[in-house]
Amino acid sequence: MVNELENLLSNNIKGMKRSAIREILKLTQRPEIISFAGGLPDPTLFPTEELAEVSSEVLKTEGALALQYGTTEGDALLRKLLVERYQKQGINIEEKNLIITTASQQGLDLTAKVFINPGDTIICGLPSYLGALSAFLSYGANLEGIELDQYGMRSDLLEEKVVELANKGIHPKFIYTIPDFQNPTGITMPEWRRLEIIAVAEKYNLIILEDCPYRDVRFEGAAQKTMLELDKSQRIIHLGTFSKVFVPGFRIGWAIASEEILDKIVVAKQATDLCTPAFVQRISARFIEKGLFDKNLSVIINAYKAKQQHFIKCLKEYMPSEVSWINPEGGLFIFLTLPEFIDTTELFQTAIEEKVAYVPGSTFYYNGEGRNTMRLNFSFMSLEKNEEGIKRLATAIKKEIAAKTK
Ligand code: PMP
Repeated sequence: MVNELENLLSNNIKGMKRSAIREILKLTQRPEIISFAGGLPDPTLFPTEELAEVSSEVLKTEGALALQYGTTEGDALLRKLLVERYQKQGINIEEKNLIITTASQQGLDLTAKVFINPGDTIICGLPSYLGALSAFLSYGANLEGIELDQYGMRSDLLEEKVVELANKGIHPKFIYTIPDFQNPTGITMPEWRRLEIIAVAEKYNLIILEDCPYRDVRFEGAAQKTMLELDKSQRIIHLGTFSKVFVPGFRIGWAIASEEILDKIVVAKQATDLCTPAFVQRISARFIEKGLFDKNLSVIINAYKAKQQHFIKCLKEYMPSEVSWINPEGGLFIFLTLPEFIDTTELFQTAIEEKVAYVPGSTFYYNGEGRNTMRLNFSFMSLEKNEEGIKRLATAIKKEIAAKTK
């Protein structure tokens, strides 16, 4: 065994904590527990049969390419097909603007690697996706949170914060935002708010990291334009992923940016993993080409829409009147707000006794706020399990409210 390992560790890793979600997920692996904690897609919707066929075809007909090292930028066919999908939406990008990443978590990590020196400031929403915050913190970032309202990150508070930082001689490296069905709140920014955020970024020369894993999981309402499309000054790094709209196990995502920024991301990726696995990239490309991707996507959207509607119906039926929630038009999560006097981290123990789990909202607030909130996932389990889980959670919440108000 290595003596005094602690002394050998980098400052970066010493400062990193294990993800609270990962730790909670471990607890929730007990079979009797119904867990709303993870952000997992429904595995019964994975197109395994079609993928078996396409994989075998790829191996037989283009195995030499699919099993070889690939380029750092990614499979040429997959990049072309992805670029075409954006172009069809009227987004003016070319292949030189897109790199395949090992899912969007790598996009977050590479962006952090390219821009963050220890002590640099990153602006994020309050709350925000924990995995992104962990990626930024791992490079020594300071986080500055901006409150959300029902339209997402508040642009007035953003500008105030940027001015406040500028007065201290601090120029944030980028603004991190999830404009569509934000994780954890489910909030979607309307176009006017996106334009306001972009205007602030332009005025103060800031980059925006636009993270869009849930964008295509929309059940109702019209899609909002991406910030990538709305921006006119090449200051957006846009991240996409197959994780929620195809299969997370392939670990395929992509980053879109100006050539200048993308070039730096390519260099960073070379040092990280050389390339994203070529085999799964080629299978994905052929899957899209055959029209199977879009077919599968509509199956996923319909299934999640039914689950979400049922989930909300059950919340209305079983939750005490003190509990409220945001009703998103898509995504995988429902964000609950409990009375101020309830701490969902304390409640977690009672919930586990009732055999149900969730993610305490404070996990997503780097400053420890949001103690009376929680995030629930509705995509992973069956309708029956979701209903039973909500009943159990309602029981735990009622017990906690009774204990705190007696
Ligand atoms: N960004 C957000 C907002 C997420 O919620 C997630 C995963 N839940 C990711 C990025 C990472 O996803 P992946 O690496 O699977 O693409």
